[in-house]
Amino acid sequence: MDTHLGIAASPGYAVGPVHLIATAMLVPERRSIPAAGIGTEIERFRDAVGCARSEIQELVRSISRELGADEGEILASQLLILEDELVWDATLAVIRLERINAEAAFNRAIGDIVSRFLEIEDETFRERVTDLKDVEQRVLRGFAGGGPPAFRVPHRPSVIAARNLSPSDTAALGRNNVLGFVMDEGGATSHVAILARSLGVPAVVGLKGVAAALPDGQTVGVDGIEGKVLVDPDPGAAENLRLLSRQQVVVNEKLSGLRDLPAVTPDGRRVRMMANIELPVEVDEALARGAEGIGLLRTEYLFFQHKTIPTEEDQVRVYSEIVRRMEGRPVIFRTLDVGGDKVSGYLGAKREYNPFLGWRGIRFSLANRPLFKTQIKAIFRAGEQGPIKLMFPMITGLEELREAREICAEALVELEAAGLPHARGVDLGIMVETPSAVLAAPLLAAECDFFSIGSNDLIQYTLAMDRGNSRVSYLYQPLHPAILRSIRAVVEAAHAAGIWAGLCGEMGSETRLAEVLLGLGLDEISTHGAALPKIKQVIRWTDSGEARDLVAALLQTVTSAEANAYLADYIAERKRRRLEEQP
Ligand code: PEP
Ligand code: MG
Repeated sequence: MDTHLGIAASPGYAVGPVHLIATAMLVPERRSIPAAGIGTEIERFRDAVGCARSEIQELVRSISRELGADEGEILASQLLILEDELVWDATLAVIRLERINAEAAFNRAIGDIVSRFLEIEDETFRERVTDLKDVEQRVLRGFAGGGPPAFRVPHRPSVIAARNLSPSDTAALGRNNVLGFVMDEGGATSHVAILARSLGVPAVVGLKGVAAALPDGQTVGVDGIEGKVLVDPDPGAAENLRLLSRQQVVVNEKLSGLRDLPAVTPDGRRVRMMANIELPVEVDEALARGAEGIGLLRTEYLFFQHKTIPTEEDQVRVYSEIVRRMEGRPVIFRTLDVGGDKVSGYLGAKREYNPFLGWRGIRFSLANRPLFKTQIKAIFRAGEQGPIKLMFPMITGLEELREAREICAEALVELEAAGLPHARGVDLGIMVETPSAVLAAPLLAAECDFFSIGSNDLIQYTLAMDRGNSRVSYLYQPLHPAILRSIRAVVEAAHAAGIWAGLCGEMGSETRLAEVLLGLGLDEISTHGAALPKIKQVIRWTDSGEARDLVAALLQTVTSAEANAYLADYIAERKRRRLEEQP
């Protein structure tokens, strides 16, 4: 038995035979054409793109039907590539200048864009490369009238192994006879990982050459939690994976029983458990997991679904639907947070040399006051349907908070004047996600109604590590002494001013950190839907005094490594004691 370590991309366990998918890449032949043939080649390119477009649209429809609109959106981004001016201009230029056939010109154009993207150390661009290659192959097939890629589908339950499956191949495979995915490329946020999680199929990615080299039919074990692949597992190891898989089902059933119970510690400390969502389709999942409200609604994703700026009425419709469906539970709207890695052509937020230090979050909104005010009005109007709160991203100081509040006040006056029904007395809070907001927390707390700590950005900015750059991802350390002290300072500043403090970054979704967040005194934790029950379970098990002692001990450590080791030992001891206590 050989054990290989990759990246855990989708939780769960599986044992089964390998079904190897080796998708042969089409490489077009290069042919010279006469000047008179240029028009024909451009027409052929147009037709091939049209063919690819229809295929992708059909796939988007079928995925949305089977898995939900969100998953369909993953492929919808490929439609944008087909319309991309960069792709069209480059292809037409090569046809005209080099006088070569359209498929070879298109292949060259995509190749150039891909190599430029690969030079950039950024996960977002790497993801785009997978999409670009997927689109390239589809258009190349389109020159011959289209059709599916030439790969075999599994006829018995199998573990799919490949160098890298494109999003459309993954979607085409669906759940049919798929026990799990093992892949050489990709990261935890790659499309195949997202689709595997939606399909509920375990996946390990980033296996660096191991996956594509697996012999077809070879038995493998997949551990999607530890990110391990066991090649030819011995009977004991295989049985263990099967047992873990059965246990997982039981644990999930048990956790679903917590849905309507509060997150309250045995000694009576209550924490609000909320969900982070991007789009309305996630509301059902949030409710099914027992969310007490939406702790972070990333409104920019609603904007990304549009090709032009959504009108106030468009926004009122979508926001109202979310508030209504939450049936009286509060929804915290975060105003537009574009910029950084979230760029959008039509909003005018473009790629910058230092995007995370650039024109993003509240800076963008304050520079686009009419757009900002329209969004605020739409949110206030949606507040007619149920309780809402509003918060601003990327606040660095009081000037920004005061200006944002001023725009809220203007929005209210205008809504009154127009006689449009809207919520009154809406709590206005800020995301605490910059080191300056941490240091100025007592000043900010005096002028807002709540804090929500954005740990993803707070860690990025405090430790000066680009959150999208895999080379420095080792610096993502939620237990770094600076981060623990920052969170403690923010909570203390909030409580001293009589306001509440929550946390809505990914740190809140890590089960191992739940007791730490409890001990740090947070009033609210907002997680992605799937993580919510586990965090609630930890809170319901943990005495708040013990959690505070744990934090005091962690604050004595002087490095992240020391803190991680301390916490790991603490949790292991915890588990051992709990097992002993069980009858
Ligand atoms: C954060 O920064 O932690 C956060 C929740 O916001 P986003 O991930 O959208 O930047
Ligand atoms: Mg953020």
